[in-house]
Amino acid sequence: MSGSGGSRRMPVAVLGATGSVGQRLVSLLADHPWFEVAALTASDRSAGKRYGDAARWLLPDPPPARIADMAVLPTEPALEPRLVFSALDAGVAGPVEAELARQGHVVVSNARSHRLDADVPLLVPEVNADHLCLVAQQPYGSGAIVTNPNCSTIGLTLALGPLVDAFGLERVHVVTLQAVSGAGYPGISSLDMVDNVVPFIAGEEEKLEVETLKVLGTVRDGSAGPHVAAAPFRVSAQCNRVPVLDGHLECVSVTLARDAALDAIRGAWEAFCGEPQALELPSAPRRPVHYVDGNDRPQPRLDRDVERGMAVAVGRLRPCPLFGHKFILVTHNTVRGAAGGAILCAELAVARGLV
Ligand code: NAP
Repeated sequence: MSGSGGSRRMPVAVLGATGSVGQRLVSLLADHPWFEVAALTASDRSAGKRYGDAARWLLPDPPPARIADMAVLPTEPALEPRLVFSALDAGVAGPVEAELARQGHVVVSNARSHRLDADVPLLVPEVNADHLCLVAQQPYGSGAIVTNPNCSTIGLTLALGPLVDAFGLERVHVVTLQAVSGAGYPGISSLDMVDNVVPFIAGEEEKLEVETLKVLGTVRDGSAGPHVAAAPFRVSAQCNRVPVLDGHLECVSVTLARDAALDAIRGAWEAFCGEPQALELPSAPRRPVHYVDGNDRPQPRLDRDVERGMAVAVGRLRPCPLFGHKFILVTHNTVRGAAGGAILCAELAVARGLV
């Protein structure tokens, strides 16, 4: 493995490799300096097929030839690689991931199944790298489960983290305009989506309201070991599906605990960096939060790819007569909000010696 400078890459498995997030994982891992895709799994519908035939490829560049020729394995707990990325449908992810962890695998998951387990880190590496210590509480021996938050929560917490650090937070209100790729493939019927906005995404508002508080929570030592005390403010979310391919836009209003000038807030975002930047992890954006000037920015099409889709674009910071301040953010939901975010979590786990 070359995470510490060697020449051999660490073999990894991708579960749910044929789906929308699985494809992003395959594509981002193709040239990864530390990791090499060694196993791909999906449902019984795909198992046994050549990956290039099983995956209905949705990305502009074709799958790498070596990976396209690999056979898709059934999603069963008999995998060689120790490090496993899960992009499984949440309906099946929970028990599969737990069984793999029991067998000694380190599972980095995009699925919601284990996100709120008390002993599972819900990781946004720039914001809460210290939450990785929770894995010591897990009953899996040398195995572990680490999770990536919901795609909207990742963008929101990257923007809120610097504000919590610099000024404290009292209240957050967020309205999301979420891309169709967030619903996987084939996702939402075109008859529902064309010429339309759907003001409901099952479970999404609850995830934003709860996961944000876990990510921004504080590790405390208790008699039973470390646990995360949820952040002490409230989040209210309204989530909408809009006819955009990739990139979630979020309209955010906040009440800060200490009032701050617009310049100071912008300065906190621009100065923000975390452990991935200090460790120079391969997938880390140079700066996790980019402020975009212009009264009509950020926009999904123009700003979702900032720093290869790994940073969040923030803009239109202005006073809010109800909350104090308001702004807009855009985050790439399948890159930073899923596959790229999971790879960054895995890089942190490797750098910290967990794998
Ligand atoms: P998707 O496109 O529907 O892909 C689901 C994957 O799971 C496919 O590879 C599918 O294989 C596999 N699968 C389905 N049923 C299975 C079963 N019974 N056994 C084994 N494999 C099975 O979904 P997605 O959008 O990529 O999302 C994957 C996960 O990431 C979900 O948990 C989702 O909530 C989460 N997530 C998604 C996003 C996003 O922006 N899309 C963001 C954050 C998190 P087949 O192709 O063989 O059916």
